[in-house]
Amino acid sequence: MAKIETIRHSLSHIMAYAVQELFPDTRFGIGPAIENGFYYDFDLKRSLAPEDLPKIEGKIKELLKKEIVFKKKIISKEEAKKIFKGQPYKLELIREIPEKTVSIYESGDFVDLCAGPHVKSTLQLRSGQSKEIPEAFKLTKIAGAYWKGNEKNPMLTRIYGVAFKSKKELKDFLLKEAEAEKRDHRKLGQKLDLFHIDEKAGPGLILWHPKGAILKKIIEDYILGAYLKEGYQLVNTPHIAKLNLWETSGHTQFYRENMFPPMHLREITQEEKDDYQLKPMNCPGHILIYKNEVRSYRQLPLRYTELGTVYRYERSGTVYGLTRVRGFTQDDAHIWCTPEQLGGEIISVFKLALRLLRDFGFKEYEIYLSTRPKKYVGTLKNWQKSTNSLKYALEKSKLKYQIDPGEGVFYGPKIDIKVKDSIGRAWQLTTIQVDFNLPEKFQMTYINKNGKKQTPIMIHRALLGSLERFIGVLLEYYAGNLPLWLSPEQIWVIPVGSRHEKYAKEVTKRCQVLGFRCQTKDENETVSKKIRDGEIQKIPYLLVVGDKEVKEKSVRIRERGKGDIGIMKLDKFLDKVKIEIERKK
Ligand SMILES: [Zn+2]
Ligand SMILES: [Zn+2]
Repeated sequence: MAKIETIRHSLSHIMAYAVQELFPDTRFGIGPAIENGFYYDFDLKRSLAPEDLPKIEGKIKELLKKEIVFKKKIISKEEAKKIFKGQPYKLELIREIPEKTVSIYESGDFVDLCAGPHVKSTLQLRSGQSKEIPEAFKLTKIAGAYWKGNEKNPMLTRIYGVAFKSKKELKDFLLKEAEAEKRDHRKLGQKLDLFHIDEKAGPGLILWHPKGAILKKIIEDYILGAYLKEGYQLVNTPHIAKLNLWETSGHTQFYRENMFPPMHLREITQEEKDDYQLKPMNCPGHILIYKNEVRSYRQLPLRYTELGTVYRYERSGTVYGLTRVRGFTQDDAHIWCTPEQLGGEIISVFKLALRLLRDFGFKEYEIYLSTRPKKYVGTLKNWQKSTNSLKYALEKSKLKYQIDPGEGVFYGPKIDIKVKDSIGRAWQLTTIQVDFNLPEKFQMTYINKNGKKQTPIMIHRALLGSLERFIGVLLEYYAGNLPLWLSPEQIWVIPVGSRHEKYAKEVTKRCQVLGFRCQTKDENETVSKKIRDGEIQKIPYLLVVGDKEVKEKSVRIRERGKGDIGIMKLDKFLDKVKIEIERKK
């Protein structure tokens, strides 16, 4: 069987063939293979609806039953222009090809401008051989797409399909897709009333609602507490700083396309000579605090942490939910140390990262070492040193890892930890970077044991990465069923009738005193409606209290995912919850 990419690309041609048969005056764009499938862009006389997909799919199946041979021909551009007469997009592509000749593929009555490769034929009738294009595909969606991705060009109709080598692979993929859709954090964010993104505020900017803001704070408090215990010191730096600072750090040169444009204060008054920059990273601010006094080797390692909100420019078309945004808060930290301390520091950062990820329930990881990118600062020798120190730490920790060539940051190589979820997706969270370059650029020093000035080594690390992204990942990972300790609302107390309200409020009070996030649901609605709401809101515990519970000082418990688990004395329930929160259940 041919390579899966070849099968997918061949299917895109057959789909175009089917569209040509069904809608003869179609003009064709391009149709490549993509991850998991393929697409083709069409300029159609009428717009398509999802109901058209089965019809096109049926036509493809009909075509696949025939023996359609893919024939490659190399022809002159003049000849090609004749063949693609009336096909403006193809003619445009032909004009752009620098060579004198072009390659075309004929498959049945459909001809395409294409370099290939393709399968030989849709059928292979010799015995013992399977079909070259297995019937393991599905057309999935219709979308609008500008010709060449440029909004000044006409909008074409893009049909997407998925294709695999076997029906089983296709079925597994579609099941996983359906599961992923249920876990979509953008939908969960709305359903659980955590956040929204508002056209009026701008794309990629998150507006946290009360429940989302609490969730964010629970996470922030927890990790900050852990960092302080590990010997980090809290610092805080402004959201804007002089543009000059970003020139020193190399950001304006190597990171410009990720930054918002500078602010020209001269436009307000002539006295303001300097331009300012919205910060894309926290490093330069932390470096200035380091440099504010003469440092001795006795102070190293020095570890500064900040839940630093940064802003990075992403094109409006590329922002996505919480996972790709324009403003986000990093659980950032910078460590400065001596060469002798470096290995140990990286290993402790690792240990801390893995411990925290486990606390949040992530059990499986993939680890990547990203090396020097095309655009970089510093000497090759420094890059070699930093890459080796990361490798040393990985090998010392006995962790399996893969190399990601050229994916480092402009100032240094990095280690990334991706967590895997129950449906096999990997999410990038932790990043640890070793940097010999910024300390040199900023002329950072410390006085060593011999009383001489020496340049410290810098580690940049964010363990959860961005809190926005982390919450998005948590929501998808748990399909919205956040662990009890993270749930913005942990307990609802539901009185059966108005005469049970007093006791319900007592129960709520007892919970709140212990720090549990709890409320009485005394709205004028039926108990079953309140239970249903609680289940939709994914509340871990719903407590129903009526005559019996008031009399016995007990609660009837409905546990998320389990339903009614019976009656329990209130004191016993409070102990149970306390233990579960401590155990990060
Ligand atoms: Zn092609
Ligand atoms: Zn940094």
